[in-house]
Amino acid sequence: MSNELAERVALVTGGARGIGLAIAKRLSGMGARVAICDMVDSADEALAALPGESAYFPCDVTDAEAVDKAVKAVVERFGSLEILVNNAGIAIDGLLMRFKPEQWNKVLEVNLTGAFNCCKAASRHLLKAKDKGRIVNISSVVGEAGNAGQVAYSASKAGLLGVTRTLALELAGRGVTVNAVAPGFIATKMTDEHVVGEAREKLLASIPLGRIGDAEDVAAAVAYLCSPSAAYVTGHVLRVNGGLYM
Ligand code: NDP
Repeated sequence: MSNELAERVALVTGGARGIGLAIAKRLSGMGARVAICDMVDSADEALAALPGESAYFPCDVTDAEAVDKAVKAVVERFGSLEILVNNAGIAIDGLLMRFKPEQWNKVLEVNLTGAFNCCKAASRHLLKAKDKGRIVNISSVVGEAGNAGQVAYSASKAGLLGVTRTLALELAGRGVTVNAVAPGFIATKMTDEHVVGEAREKLLASIPLGRIGDAEDVAAAVAYLCSPSAAYVTGHVLRVNGGLYM
């Protein structure tokens, strides 16, 4: 267990399971105190898996007021906020012709507006943290490559890249870095439900490294971007996709 993130507080949205939990574990293992923000009733199991000090702040990222309150509560509890990982996300699939406006709005609301709400609420604290301040947005391979049947999801993840580059410019003056991680296909509840049968076999055959990724593969990339070693890396999109898209 390294201590690279000692004295830092990290907020991970959607951190109660899947990739978010792997990120929370990794940052905790590096010495950060970790706040998990999610919508589950209890995050006791997730918190128990983290080696360091941590706490759960239930919050729907689409609700700007609730996000403000949660960020305030994190700072009250831990004294500061240095790292924000915008990981909470949903996928609703469907071809354009059958895709409903409500579905479009829902996906954009969680994946893009949710991240905006969190960046806005956290920015004041991150600016105070100066060159320790970090934002990492979890985008997706489909935000760059597109994907038939995922118009809203791809748009939301591409939008996050615009947010990343813009905030990288806006916050650079204080040394705060803003980067994105774009995972390929990672084994979690999301992909277990969405990528099945023949589609899964086809997908495997298209990944040069020959396997579906693990949540830990993504967590390692996030950990690097949050670490002091990445102080001069900003506005970057780090692809973690086994070579699926380059
Ligand atoms: P999961 O569905 O396993 O986890 C997502 C987490 O986000 C859940 O805990 C969920 O809570 C939470 N969440 C959803 N909506 C909200 C909300 N409005 N407010 C707060 N929390 C919310 O997803 P993954 O771990 O697979 O994905 C994590 C991120 O990585 C997502 O942004 C996803 O788009 C991205 N990604 C995933 C890939 C993959 O292959 N799995 C590939 C590329 C990107 P609840 O349990 O209540 O729904």
